[in-house]
Amino acid sequence: MHHAYLFDGPDGVGKELAAFGLAQALVCEVRGLGAQAGDNACGECGACQRAIVRPGDRVPTHPDVVVLERGLYEPAQLGRRTAETQEISVDQVRKLVLEHAAFPPHEGRARVFIVRRAEELSTSAANSLLKTLEEPISRTYFVLVTSTPNLLLSTIRSRTQRVRFAQLGTSVVESLLIDRGIARERAADVASIAGGSIGAAIALAESGAAAAHDQFVQRAHAALKGASMSGALELAEAEKKSKADLGSMLEAFAVSLAAAARKEIASGDFGAAVAAARQVSFVFGAVRAIDANGSPQLALEALFTRMRGTAR
Ligand SMILES: [Zn+2]
Repeated sequence: MHHAYLFDGPDGVGKELAAFGLAQALVCEVRGLGAQAGDNACGECGACQRAIVRPGDRVPTHPDVVVLERGLYEPAQLGRRTAETQEISVDQVRKLVLEHAAFPPHEGRARVFIVRRAEELSTSAANSLLKTLEEPISRTYFVLVTSTPNLLLSTIRSRTQRVRFAQLGTSVVESLLIDRGIARERAADVASIAGGSIGAAIALAESGAAAAHDQFVQRAHAALKGASMSGALELAEAEKKSKADLGSMLEAFAVSLAAAARKEIASGDFGAAVAAARQVSFVFGAVRAIDANGSPQLALEALFTRMRGTAR
Protein backbone atom coordinates (compact mmCIF):
# COMPACT_ATOMS: atom_id res chain seq x y z
CA MET A 1 0.00 0.00 0.00
CA HIS A 2 1.12 3.49 -0.84
CA HIS A 3 0.03 5.96 1.84
CA ALA A 4 -1.36 8.59 -0.54
CA TYR A 5 -3.25 7.95 -3.74
CA LEU A 6 -4.68 10.26 -6.36
CA PHE A 7 -7.71 8.64 -7.98
CA ASP A 8 -8.35 10.54 -11.17
CA GLY A 9 -10.67 10.01 -14.08
CA PRO A 10 -13.96 11.21 -15.51
CA ASP A 11 -16.99 11.81 -13.31
CA GLY A 12 -19.28 8.92 -12.55
CA VAL A 13 -16.98 5.98 -13.26
CA GLY A 14 -16.52 4.69 -9.71
CA LYS A 15 -13.54 6.55 -8.26
CA GLU A 16 -15.27 7.26 -4.99
CA LEU A 17 -16.75 3.78 -4.81
CA ALA A 18 -13.22 2.43 -5.16
CA ALA A 19 -11.95 4.83 -2.47
CA PHE A 20 -14.52 3.59 0.02
CA GLY A 21 -13.83 -0.01 -1.01
CA LEU A 22 -10.17 0.57 -0.21
CA ALA A 23 -11.14 2.15 3.12
CA GLN A 24 -13.18 -0.95 3.94
CA ALA A 25 -10.25 -3.20 3.11
CA LEU A 26 -8.04 -1.15 5.45
CA VAL A 27 -10.37 -1.16 8.45
CA CYS A 28 -12.11 -4.53 7.98
CA GLU A 29 -12.18 -6.60 11.17
CA VAL A 30 -12.39 -9.94 9.40
CA ARG A 31 -10.10 -9.84 6.39
CA GLY A 32 -8.34 -6.66 5.34
CA LEU A 33 -5.26 -5.97 3.29
CA GLY A 34 -2.43 -8.35 3.98
CA ALA A 35 -4.55 -10.59 6.19
CA GLN A 36 -4.37 -14.30 5.57
CA ALA A 37 -8.08 -14.68 5.11
CA GLY A 38 -8.00 -12.56 1.99
CA ASP A 39 -6.55 -9.39 0.58
CA ASN A 40 -9.84 -7.51 0.58
CA ALA A 41 -12.78 -6.40 2.70
CA CYS A 42 -15.49 -8.75 3.92
CA GLY A 43 -18.06 -6.02 3.32
CA GLU A 44 -20.18 -7.27 6.19
CA CYS A 45 -18.43 -6.76 9.51
CA GLY A 46 -19.18 -3.76 11.70
CA ALA A 47 -16.14 -1.86 10.49
CA CYS A 48 -16.96 -2.48 6.81
CA GLN A 49 -20.55 -1.35 7.33
CA ARG A 50 -19.49 1.83 9.06
CA ALA A 51 -16.72 2.64 6.57
CA ILE A 52 -19.14 3.63 3.82
CA VAL A 53 -21.75 6.37 3.64
CA ARG A 54 -25.18 4.94 4.42
CA PRO A 55 -28.28 6.30 2.71
CA GLY A 56 -29.42 9.37 4.61
CA ASP A 57 -25.97 10.03 6.11
CA ARG A 58 -23.42 12.50 4.85
CA VAL A 59 -20.29 10.87 6.19
CA PRO A 60 -19.33 7.35 7.29
CA THR A 61 -19.91 6.61 10.97
CA HIS A 62 -16.52 4.89 11.30
CA PRO A 63 -14.25 7.31 13.20
CA ASP A 64 -11.23 6.28 11.14
CA VAL A 65 -12.80 6.84 7.72
CA VAL A 66 -12.90 10.60 7.30
CA VAL A 67 -14.28 12.45 4.31
CA LEU A 68 -13.05 15.90 3.35
CA GLU A 69 -15.20 17.92 0.99
CA ARG A 70 -15.95 21.58 0.43
CA GLY A 71 -19.01 22.56 2.45
CA LEU A 72 -19.55 19.11 3.96
CA TYR A 73 -19.26 20.37 7.54
CA GLU A 74 -20.95 23.25 9.34
CA PRO A 75 -18.60 26.22 9.71
CA ALA A 76 -18.82 25.94 13.52
CA GLN A 77 -17.59 22.33 13.37
CA LEU A 78 -14.46 23.60 11.67
CA GLY A 79 -13.98 26.63 13.88
CA ARG A 80 -14.96 28.99 11.08
CA ARG A 81 -17.46 31.78 10.89
CA THR A 82 -18.20 31.56 7.18
CA ALA A 83 -19.25 28.72 4.92
CA GLU A 84 -16.77 27.13 2.53
CA THR A 85 -18.22 28.36 -0.73
CA GLN A 86 -15.22 28.06 -3.04
CA GLU A 87 -12.63 25.83 -1.50
CA ILE A 88 -11.81 23.16 1.05
CA SER A 89 -10.42 25.42 3.75
CA VAL A 90 -7.24 25.04 5.71
CA ASP A 91 -9.53 24.93 8.77
CA GLN A 92 -11.05 21.69 7.54
CA VAL A 93 -7.63 20.12 7.00
CA ARG A 94 -6.50 21.29 10.43
CA LYS A 95 -9.59 20.07 12.22
CA LEU A 96 -9.99 16.73 10.48
CA VAL A 97 -6.42 15.75 9.65
CA LEU A 98 -3.69 17.67 11.43
CA GLU A 99 -5.26 17.67 14.88
CA HIS A 100 -5.32 13.87 14.79
CA ALA A 101 -1.96 13.32 13.17
CA ALA A 102 -0.17 12.67 16.45
CA PHE A 103 -2.64 10.01 17.57
CA PRO A 104 -3.12 6.45 16.38
CA PRO A 105 -6.35 5.42 14.65
CA HIS A 106 -9.35 5.22 17.03
CA GLU A 107 -10.00 1.57 16.34
CA GLY A 108 -6.41 0.67 15.74
CA ARG A 109 -6.34 -0.78 12.23
CA ALA A 110 -5.95 2.18 9.92
CA ARG A 111 -7.15 5.68 9.31
CA VAL A 112 -8.26 6.74 5.84
CA PHE A 113 -8.87 10.26 4.61
CA ILE A 114 -10.93 10.53 1.44
CA VAL A 115 -10.80 13.96 -0.20
CA ARG A 116 -13.67 14.55 -2.61
CA ARG A 117 -12.96 16.96 -5.46
CA ALA A 118 -9.42 17.36 -4.21
CA GLU A 119 -8.84 20.11 -6.78
CA GLU A 120 -10.92 22.31 -4.48
CA LEU A 121 -8.31 22.26 -1.72
CA SER A 122 -7.30 25.86 -1.14
CA THR A 123 -3.63 26.63 -1.64
CA SER A 124 -3.08 26.92 2.10
CA ALA A 125 -5.07 23.73 2.74
CA ALA A 126 -2.98 21.88 0.16
CA ASN A 127 0.24 23.29 1.56
CA SER A 128 -0.73 22.28 5.08
CA LEU A 129 -1.12 18.69 3.85
CA LEU A 130 2.24 18.46 2.14
CA LYS A 131 4.26 17.44 5.14
CA THR A 132 1.75 14.74 6.09
CA LEU A 133 1.72 13.44 2.53
CA GLU A 134 5.49 13.40 2.43
CA GLU A 135 6.15 11.80 5.78
CA PRO A 136 3.34 9.36 6.27
CA ILE A 137 1.96 8.85 9.72
CA SER A 138 1.84 5.20 10.63
CA ARG A 139 -1.35 3.43 9.49
CA THR A 140 -2.71 6.61 7.91
CA TYR A 141 -3.79 6.69 4.27
CA PHE A 142 -5.04 9.35 1.91
CA VAL A 143 -7.16 9.00 -1.20
CA LEU A 144 -7.53 12.23 -3.16
CA VAL A 145 -10.34 11.98 -5.69
CA THR A 146 -10.53 14.29 -8.70
CA SER A 147 -11.72 14.53 -12.28
CA THR A 148 -9.41 17.48 -12.97
CA PRO A 149 -5.95 16.46 -11.71
CA ASN A 150 -4.30 19.34 -13.53
CA LEU A 151 -5.92 21.78 -11.12
CA LEU A 152 -4.07 20.25 -8.18
CA LEU A 153 -0.82 21.77 -6.98
CA SER A 154 2.08 19.93 -8.57
CA THR A 155 3.53 19.47 -5.08
CA ILE A 156 0.41 17.46 -4.16
CA ARG A 157 0.52 15.47 -7.40
CA SER A 158 4.16 14.57 -6.90
CA ARG A 159 3.50 13.24 -3.40
CA THR A 160 0.65 10.98 -4.40
CA GLN A 161 0.50 7.81 -6.41
CA ARG A 162 -1.75 8.33 -9.36
CA VAL A 163 -4.40 5.74 -10.18
CA ARG A 164 -6.20 6.54 -13.40
CA PHE A 165 -9.80 5.56 -13.92
CA ALA A 166 -11.09 5.19 -17.45
CA GLN A 167 -14.54 5.47 -18.89
CA LEU A 168 -16.61 2.33 -18.49
CA GLY A 169 -17.50 0.22 -21.50
CA THR A 170 -21.02 0.66 -22.88
CA SER A 171 -21.90 -2.95 -22.04
CA VAL A 172 -20.71 -2.43 -18.44
CA VAL A 173 -22.86 0.69 -18.06
CA GLU A 174 -25.79 -1.20 -19.58
CA SER A 175 -25.52 -4.13 -17.19
CA LEU A 176 -25.10 -1.82 -14.18
CA LEU A 177 -28.33 -0.07 -15.19
CA ILE A 178 -30.12 -3.39 -15.56
CA ASP A 179 -28.86 -4.32 -12.07
CA ARG A 180 -30.54 -1.15 -10.81
CA GLY A 181 -33.85 -2.25 -12.23
CA ILE A 182 -33.84 -0.24 -15.48
CA ALA A 183 -35.59 -2.08 -18.32
CA ARG A 184 -33.19 -3.74 -20.76
CA GLU A 185 -34.21 -1.72 -23.81
CA ARG A 186 -33.97 1.61 -22.00
CA ALA A 187 -30.68 0.61 -20.38
CA ALA A 188 -29.22 0.00 -23.84
CA ASP A 189 -30.49 3.35 -25.15
CA VAL A 190 -29.12 5.25 -22.16
CA ALA A 191 -25.78 3.40 -22.07
CA SER A 192 -25.17 4.23 -25.73
CA ILE A 193 -24.96 7.96 -24.98
CA ALA A 194 -23.71 8.04 -21.38
CA GLY A 195 -20.06 8.50 -22.39
CA GLY A 196 -18.90 5.61 -20.21
CA SER A 197 -20.14 7.19 -16.99
CA ILE A 198 -22.52 5.24 -14.78
CA GLY A 199 -23.27 8.47 -12.89
CA ALA A 200 -24.34 10.20 -16.10
CA ALA A 201 -26.25 7.09 -17.16
CA ILE A 202 -28.28 7.02 -13.96
CA ALA A 203 -29.16 10.70 -14.39
CA LEU A 204 -30.16 10.01 -17.99
CA ALA A 205 -32.22 6.98 -17.02
CA GLU A 206 -34.10 9.11 -14.51
CA SER A 207 -34.79 11.83 -17.07
CA GLY A 208 -38.00 11.38 -18.98
CA ALA A 209 -39.74 9.82 -16.02
CA ALA A 210 -42.06 12.79 -15.68
CA ALA A 211 -45.00 13.51 -17.97
CA ALA A 212 -43.60 16.99 -18.62
CA HIS A 213 -40.47 15.35 -20.02
CA ASP A 214 -42.51 13.18 -22.37
CA GLN A 215 -44.38 16.19 -23.61
CA PHE A 216 -41.15 18.10 -24.19
CA VAL A 217 -39.63 15.19 -26.07
CA GLN A 218 -42.66 14.93 -28.35
CA ARG A 219 -42.61 18.64 -29.07
CA ALA A 220 -38.87 18.54 -29.70
CA HIS A 221 -39.25 15.74 -32.25
CA ALA A 222 -42.07 17.65 -33.93
CA ALA A 223 -39.93 20.80 -33.99
CA LEU A 224 -37.15 18.83 -35.62
CA LYS A 225 -39.37 17.42 -38.35
CA GLY A 226 -41.55 20.51 -38.96
CA ALA A 227 -41.46 22.20 -42.35
CA SER A 228 -40.20 25.45 -40.83
CA MET A 229 -38.46 26.65 -37.67
CA SER A 230 -41.74 27.90 -36.22
CA GLY A 231 -42.29 24.87 -33.97
CA ALA A 232 -38.75 25.17 -32.65
CA LEU A 233 -39.14 28.89 -31.98
CA GLU A 234 -42.41 28.29 -30.13
CA LEU A 235 -40.79 25.59 -28.02
CA ALA A 236 -37.83 27.87 -27.22
CA GLU A 237 -40.24 30.64 -26.23
CA ALA A 238 -42.29 28.27 -24.07
CA GLU A 239 -39.23 26.96 -22.25
CA LYS A 240 -37.39 30.23 -21.81
CA LYS A 241 -37.85 30.18 -18.06
CA SER A 242 -37.57 26.48 -17.32
CA LYS A 243 -33.88 26.51 -16.69
CA ALA A 244 -33.73 23.92 -13.93
CA ASP A 245 -35.83 21.30 -15.71
CA LEU A 246 -34.64 21.99 -19.19
CA GLY A 247 -31.37 20.09 -18.79
CA SER A 248 -33.07 16.86 -17.83
CA MET A 249 -35.78 17.35 -20.46
CA LEU A 250 -33.06 17.71 -23.08
CA GLU A 251 -31.38 14.61 -21.71
CA ALA A 252 -34.66 12.75 -22.15
CA PHE A 253 -34.70 14.02 -25.74
CA ALA A 254 -31.14 12.73 -26.22
CA VAL A 255 -32.15 9.31 -24.91
CA SER A 256 -35.03 9.16 -27.36
CA LEU A 257 -32.68 10.07 -30.23
CA ALA A 258 -30.33 7.31 -29.06
CA ALA A 259 -33.21 4.84 -29.09
CA ALA A 260 -33.97 5.79 -32.69
CA ALA A 261 -30.29 5.48 -33.61
CA ARG A 262 -30.10 1.97 -32.17
CA LYS A 263 -33.04 0.91 -34.32
CA GLU A 264 -31.28 2.32 -37.36
CA ILE A 265 -28.11 0.43 -36.52
CA ALA A 266 -30.18 -2.74 -36.07
CA SER A 267 -31.64 -2.25 -39.53
CA GLY A 268 -28.18 -1.67 -41.01
CA ASP A 269 -28.64 2.05 -41.71
CA PHE A 270 -25.30 3.26 -40.35
CA GLY A 271 -25.46 6.61 -42.12
CA ALA A 272 -28.63 7.46 -40.23
CA ALA A 273 -27.07 6.23 -37.00
CA VAL A 274 -24.04 8.48 -37.45
CA ALA A 275 -26.34 11.44 -38.13
CA ALA A 276 -28.29 10.62 -34.97
CA ALA A 277 -25.06 10.49 -32.94
CA ARG A 278 -24.28 14.03 -34.14
CA GLN A 279 -27.75 15.13 -33.12
CA VAL A 280 -27.19 13.70 -29.65
CA SER A 281 -23.92 15.62 -29.36
CA PHE A 282 -25.73 18.83 -30.32
CA VAL A 283 -28.28 18.20 -27.57
CA PHE A 284 -25.55 17.70 -24.97
CA GLY A 285 -23.92 20.89 -26.25
CA ALA A 286 -27.14 22.75 -25.49
CA VAL A 287 -27.28 21.19 -22.00
CA ARG A 288 -23.74 22.44 -21.34
CA ALA A 289 -24.57 25.91 -22.65
CA ILE A 290 -27.57 26.15 -20.31
CA ASP A 291 -25.51 24.77 -17.40
CA ALA A 292 -22.96 27.49 -18.06
CA ASN A 293 -25.69 30.07 -17.52
CA GLY A 294 -26.61 30.49 -21.17
CA SER A 295 -30.10 31.68 -22.08
CA PRO A 296 -32.39 28.64 -22.40
CA GLN A 297 -34.28 30.29 -25.24
CA LEU A 298 -31.17 31.09 -27.27
CA ALA A 299 -29.70 27.65 -26.54
CA LEU A 300 -32.85 25.92 -27.84
CA GLU A 301 -33.02 28.13 -30.93
CA ALA A 302 -29.38 27.43 -31.71
CA LEU A 303 -29.89 23.72 -31.06
CA PHE A 304 -32.79 23.35 -33.47
CA THR A 305 -31.06 25.45 -36.12
CA ARG A 306 -28.10 23.07 -35.91
CA MET A 307 -30.14 19.91 -35.76
CA ARG A 308 -32.40 20.90 -38.62
CA GLY A 309 -29.35 21.83 -40.68
CA THR A 310 -28.08 18.28 -40.54
CA ALA A 311 -31.41 16.50 -40.42
CA ARG A 312 -31.87 16.54 -44.16
ZN1 LIG B 1 -15.20 -6.37 7.08
